[in-house]
Amino acid sequence: MEYEIYQELSSKNKQYLWHPFTQMKDYINEDPLIISHGKDRKLYDVLGNEYYDGVSSIWLNVHGHNIPELNEAINEQLQKVAHSTLLGMANVPSILLAEKLVEISPKGLEKVFYSDSGATSVEIAIKMAYQYWRNIGKYEKNTFVTMKEAYHGDTIGAVSVGAIDLYHQAYDELLFPSIKVSYPHLYRSKYEGTEQEMIAAYIKEVEGLFIEKANSIAALIIEPIVQGASGIIVMPNGYLKAIHELCIKYDVLLIADEVATGFGRTGKMFACEKEDVTPDILTCGKGLTGGYLPVAATLTTNRIYEAFLGSYEEQKTFFHGHSYTGNPLGCAVALANLELFNTTHLLQHVETIAAYIQNKLVKFNDLKHVGDIRQSGLMIGIELVQSKISKEAFHWNERIGVKVTKRAKELGLLTRPLGNVIVFMPPLASTELEIKEMLDILYNAISDITEPC
Ligand SMILES: *Cc1c(COP(=O)(O)O)cnc(C)c1O
Repeated sequence: MEYEIYQELSSKNKQYLWHPFTQMKDYINEDPLIISHGKDRKLYDVLGNEYYDGVSSIWLNVHGHNIPELNEAINEQLQKVAHSTLLGMANVPSILLAEKLVEISPKGLEKVFYSDSGATSVEIAIKMAYQYWRNIGKYEKNTFVTMKEAYHGDTIGAVSVGAIDLYHQAYDELLFPSIKVSYPHLYRSKYEGTEQEMIAAYIKEVEGLFIEKANSIAALIIEPIVQGASGIIVMPNGYLKAIHELCIKYDVLLIADEVATGFGRTGKMFACEKEDVTPDILTCGKGLTGGYLPVAATLTTNRIYEAFLGSYEEQKTFFHGHSYTGNPLGCAVALANLELFNTTHLLQHVETIAAYIQNKLVKFNDLKHVGDIRQSGLMIGIELVQSKISKEAFHWNERIGVKVTKRAKELGLLTRPLGNVIVFMPPLASTELEIKEMLDILYNAISDITEPC
């Protein structure tokens, strides 16, 4: 019976659906995983197999699936109203959530602008920064600086400040130009010397650019502490702080894209807190609703906000919005999510679990093809290499990451690789026992694929 249902869904999936970031020609020749339900840190497919959600359903999930408090928040709001617009009016949960976000975000961020995905929160950040300078009469400050290998989402503005060739190159002529500076990737550093010398060289590169061009730069956008989609690359200590100081010194706005790092993922509520940085604009999404509904937000300071105030005729208004901006169901579940952070002492839990994972990962270094292990909180990337000594990468065509994650799935753990980097991003509330079982699977999957006997 289950198998017949599966067969039917599988053929409809093949007939009607086009999946994101997926080569459909390969995909339709394989048996698709079709999720039926979830409970806590596990997902169950329609055939009744169970899997750990080792990638938090692509970096979103916080407490787990089917969490009673979160379900209840949606049910309760649903009895009142599912949606009403924020264009010129307000609704209850959107106000309360905005207050909460200002309360928990880095000090100095005072205003919340909602949208519905990480990419839209970035579009908003870009337009806000750009229009800010126009509104105060500095028209020449109109270009953006981003980091090499950066990822900020898939809409055209976000892609314009993105720099992953595989995803972005095809659209080159559609994009507005942005200036790319080197990300401090110490494992594959373009600069030589001691760690301190390398970091200094990366900082100097940004300062050199600012000295020359700050007059024409609106903002620098960065994924704070961890560059995610490029392979979970953790910044060296002090780098973010140094970049923030340069932005202040040269009057360049700092946009911190916390879509991946926000809401406890790196151990702090926001990664910027790790270096005591308040950006001019902060974007967040993913974990905001605990992984339940698509709500994102762009937070900013009074300095930016006030530049948009003026008489009606001046047209300094921020002409931007989305149909579902400030959706009450989404805001209600986000509030319940943040409430659960408190009642379960989740940030403390993340600290404990992150230390546990760090210990467990030591053993992975024994594997012949594990080149680099990177971790910040519960954001982990394990880079596989041909040779540990030369750091030579596996060829893209070998699909080594795909093979390892396929094996992990057979063993009961879902994750998704970034090229040759195996991503491990469990829900923040995962218990020690769950983490142990997940990491055992991951270890065996890597070993089975890269060291077959
Ligand atoms: C995922 C991600 C985005 C895009 O978010 P979507 O909700 O997928 O549009 C933007 N920035 C960063 C850093 C991300 O990790």
